[in-house]
Amino acid sequence: MSYVDEVLESVKKKNAGEPEFIQAVTEVLESIRVVVDAHEEEYRKVALLERLVEPDRIITFRVPWTDDKGEVHVQRGYRVQFNNAIGPYKGGLRFHPSVYQGILKFLGFEQTFKNALTTLPIGGGKGGSDFDPHGKSDNEVMRFCQSFMTELYKYIGADVDVPAGDIGVGGREVGYLFGQYKRLTNTYEGILTGKGLTFGGSLIRTQATGYGLLYHTVEILKLNGQSLKDAVCAVSGAGNVATYAIEKAQELGAKVVTCSDSTGWIYDPDGIDVELLKEVKEVRRARLTEYKAERPNAEYHEGKGVWTVKCDYAFPCATQNELELEDAKTLVANGCKGVFEGANMPTTLDATKYLQENGVLFTPGKASNAGGVATSALEMTQNSERLSWSAEEVDTRLKMIMTGIADTIAEAADRYGMTGNYVAGANIAGFEKVAEAMIAQGVY
Ligand code: NDP
Repeated sequence: MSYVDEVLESVKKKNAGEPEFIQAVTEVLESIRVVVDAHEEEYRKVALLERLVEPDRIITFRVPWTDDKGEVHVQRGYRVQFNNAIGPYKGGLRFHPSVYQGILKFLGFEQTFKNALTTLPIGGGKGGSDFDPHGKSDNEVMRFCQSFMTELYKYIGADVDVPAGDIGVGGREVGYLFGQYKRLTNTYEGILTGKGLTFGGSLIRTQATGYGLLYHTVEILKLNGQSLKDAVCAVSGAGNVATYAIEKAQELGAKVVTCSDSTGWIYDPDGIDVELLKEVKEVRRARLTEYKAERPNAEYHEGKGVWTVKCDYAFPCATQNELELEDAKTLVANGCKGVFEGANMPTTLDATKYLQENGVLFTPGKASNAGGVATSALEMTQNSERLSWSAEEVDTRLKMIMTGIADTIAEAADRYGMTGNYVAGANIAGFEKVAEAMIAQGVY
C-alpha cells in the first residue's frame, strides 16, 4: 500500500466521528500524492505525514456564563494548535452551535497550508465554541467572551498563538475577548487580530477576506483570458466574507445578484445593494427578509437556493459543504465558468471533482480566502512595530499577496503536469513549505 493510502486509512480509523476532518485530510493527501510518491523514503523515515495530520495539541475547556435572566449555561470551548512549523499558531475562533472538535481540526489543518501560501511566518490553529450568538444581548455576548478568555488566555500569546474572528466572531466579540485578556494579564499585546482601529486593529482587516478573494479571482481569470467586467455573479452568505466580496466584485464591474443567510436567500436582479446589506446584517443583526422589505424588485426565498441562479462566476462564502454535487451540476448546466471559495471547504469533494471535470475554474478556500489571515499577519507586524499603516499600504500588500498566491498555485500545478488544477497547486505549494520546515526542525 502506498504511504498516502496507509496514512489515509489510519486517519479514517482514528478520527471516525469527525467526517469534516477526514474530508479535509483526504483532499490534501490525494492531491499531494505525486509529491509524496517522489519522496516516499525520506518522508516515511521521519513519519512526516503521520505528524502532519495530528494536531500539536487540542485544548478543551468549560465555559460557564450567565444570561440576562440570571440563568447559568455551560458551553464547551476549544483551541486546536495544529502546526507551528513556520510560525506561531494563527487562525480564527468560531462561535456556532455546530462547533465540535472535528470541525475545528479540519479548519486548523486547512489553516496550516493556507498560512504557508501567504508567504508570511504563521502556523495553523483554530478554536471556538458551540455558543450561539444569535439572539443574545450585547451583555450576554460580553459575559460569554469574558468567560471564554478566562480559560483561553493561558494558552495564547503574541509569539505563541494569535486567534482572530470567524463565523459568529466579529469586531464586537474580538473587543470583549481582548479586554478580558488585558484585565487578566495586565499586558497590552497583539494576542488577537481583527481588533478595533482604536486599539491596535489594522485598516482593511474587516474587508480583507472578501477583497482578497476578488484580487485572487481577477488574477486567476487573467491567467485564463477571462475577466469580471459585466459578469453576473452569485455569492452565498451575508456575513463578513460575503459582504466585502460583493462590495469588491461590484467595484470591479461585476453584478452580484444573490446573497444568503442561515434561513434564506435573496435574488436581486438589479445587483445587491451592499450598503443596505451592511445595515441589515452588521447594524441591525437582522434576517434577510428585512433586505427584501426595502428592495421591491428583489426576491426572498426560504432555505437554500443560491446556486440555482444563472451566473458566470460563483463565490460560496457561508460555510462548509454548502455547495453539493447537485448544485455543481446546476451551475455547470447554467454556464458557470468559475467557482472561487470564500468560505472554508464550502464545496464537497464530489462537487469539486464535477466542476473540475467540466472545465469550471475552481480555487480552494485555502488559497482564495487567505486574504483574511494574511492581513491578520500584517496586523501582527504593525502591533510589533507599534505603528499603523495606511489603508492604501495594507490594501496594496493584500493585493500583492493574493495575486502572488494565484501565481504560486498555478505554477505548482504546472510543475506536476496538472495545469489548471488549482486544488492540487494549492495543496502542493502549501505542503512543500510546511514539509521542508518540519523536516529541518527534526522529529517532534
Ligand atoms: P459570518 O458569521 O460573518 O457570516 C457567515 C454567514 O454564513 C452568515 O450569513 C450566516 O448566516 C451564514 N451561515 C453560517 N452558517 C451557516 C449554515 N450552517 N448554513 C447556512 N448559512 C450559514 O462568518 P464569516 O463571513 O467570517 O465566515 C464565512 C466563511 O468564511 C466561514 O467558512 C469562515 O471559516 C470563512 N473564512 C472567514 C474569514 C474571515 O476573515 N472572517 C477568513 C477566511 C475564511 P446568518 O447571518 O444567519 O448567521
